[in-house]
Amino acid sequence: MVNSLIKVRNVIVELDGDEMTRVMWEMLKEKLLFPHLEMNIEYYDLSLENRDKTDDAVTYQSALAIKKHGVGVKCATITPNEDRVKEYNLKKAWKSPNGTIRAFLDGTVFRAPIMVNNIRPMVSCWKKPIVIGRHAYGDVYSGVEFLAKQAGKAELVFTPADGSAPHRELIHDFSKGGIIQGIHNTQQSIASFAKACFTYAYDNRIDLWFSTKDTISKVYDAYFREVFAAEYEKNWKDKFAAAGLEYFFTLIDDAAARIVRSEGGFLWALKNYDGDVLSDLVASANGSLAMMNSVLVSPDGCFEYEAAHGTVQKHYYRHLKGEETSSNSMALIFAWTGALRKRAELDNTPAVADFADKLEVAAKEAIEGGTMTGDLLLLADPSPRNCKVNTQDFIEAVAQRLATKLAR
Ligand code: NAP
Ligand code: MG
Repeated sequence: MVNSLIKVRNVIVELDGDEMTRVMWEMLKEKLLFPHLEMNIEYYDLSLENRDKTDDAVTYQSALAIKKHGVGVKCATITPNEDRVKEYNLKKAWKSPNGTIRAFLDGTVFRAPIMVNNIRPMVSCWKKPIVIGRHAYGDVYSGVEFLAKQAGKAELVFTPADGSAPHRELIHDFSKGGIIQGIHNTQQSIASFAKACFTYAYDNRIDLWFSTKDTISKVYDAYFREVFAAEYEKNWKDKFAAAGLEYFFTLIDDAAARIVRSEGGFLWALKNYDGDVLSDLVASANGSLAMMNSVLVSPDGCFEYEAAHGTVQKHYYRHLKGEETSSNSMALIFAWTGALRKRAELDNTPAVADFADKLEVAAKEAIEGGTMTGDLLLLADPSPRNCKVNTQDFIEAVAQRLATKLAR
């Protein structure tokens, strides 16, 4: 008997990628998605070869498509450096596709761990995911720096475009020289960041925490706090109250202290540098990069789902040599379920959301039942049932569990 396929009504924009993740991507479409879903896919090949061939036009086209259709799912891609330029004989070191897409959609990246009951976070009280929302524009990442080698005055000067008198602030009067840094952010980028954070928290029905150091940075950090507060008052207060959600601002050091005593289950919004540092801390405390997914949310409501990890290059070279690999496809699977669930919500197709739920449960249950890739075997609670499987067999194990769930 042929099962009827579940129909995904509107377009999912698919961005294919590189190396081991491209290999897994193909397998999981073949084994987990195509047997059960009728999808309307707009496909963009973001492999490094094709980005080079199209002078990176394909990356821009894919970003445009996500803007048009609202939902994208992306495989990991190589960001070329000098080694890659030689390896792939590239015309040039093309920019990071993620950077290009993020800039185009003006989005914020949210990273969340995938939790299973036999892998415990290093922080024993963490029961639910702590999602990190990192502001990915400005501050020290687009800072200007200067090494002053002699005595002299450093000043902050703002020259208004309308020709009115410049504004000057003394930074420091150096008696012997020193170091100076100028950083900035824009009203628009901070407003987009705030909007994306509230959207994500509300969408996922979790509280939102935001923290800065506004007691010390009374203009810069205070501005972030004011923008968040204004966005909350204007657009979210009633919705949050109705959904039983909380918006909580606290100082960054207080937040850091509270996080390690919390049980998780909220979004922690952070400025660029704080997010860079603390997202790696939260990721590593949760175990494996392969169990971390990521979604880009734009202020106008576009969503791009992906794995937080890269193309797993080392495993790919082994795969090319014909050796067995044990690469973890969880975050790639969850990228697809994220996109499908969002599509279901926008299209009002509960059967698609139900499929996404079942696929996630099937994947988690495979691991909880002891079937796991090598990276997880080291982290999981010891059990005689634990068994390391190869890349393909893990996907096969998920496929079998999924089929059983769908047949019920
Ligand atoms: P990576 O691909 O994330 O892999 C780093 C290491 O983490 C792997 O060697 C592996 O450790 C482990 N790992 C990551 N994902 C895994 C998985 N799914 N299953 C099992 N183990 C996993 O980072 P990278 O090697 O530094 O970068 C490779 C390429 O990815 C680079 O060209 C970079 O530009 C690109 N990249 C892309 C994205 C993106 O598209 N979002 C993000 C980051 C990096 P072991 O070798 O110890 O098993
Ligand atoms: Mg970092």
